[in-house]
Amino acid sequence: MSISVLCELCKKPVLLEKARINELGKAVHEQCYVRAIRASKPMGPADGPKPRV
Ligand SMILES: [Zn+2]
Repeated sequence: MSISVLCELCKKPVLLEKARINELGKAVHEQCYVRAIRASKPMGPADGPKPRV
């Protein structure tokens, strides 16, 4: 039996066994978790294409 909870970030159901727990103790999708981390660290290295100068 699998339990699903609502992702704190996108408000969609996520299987608890596949969810990540964020720093607030809330279940989130792994994708949402990664996205949230990247959003909080805008200066991440090698993240996305760099504009040509
Ligand atoms: Zn989500």
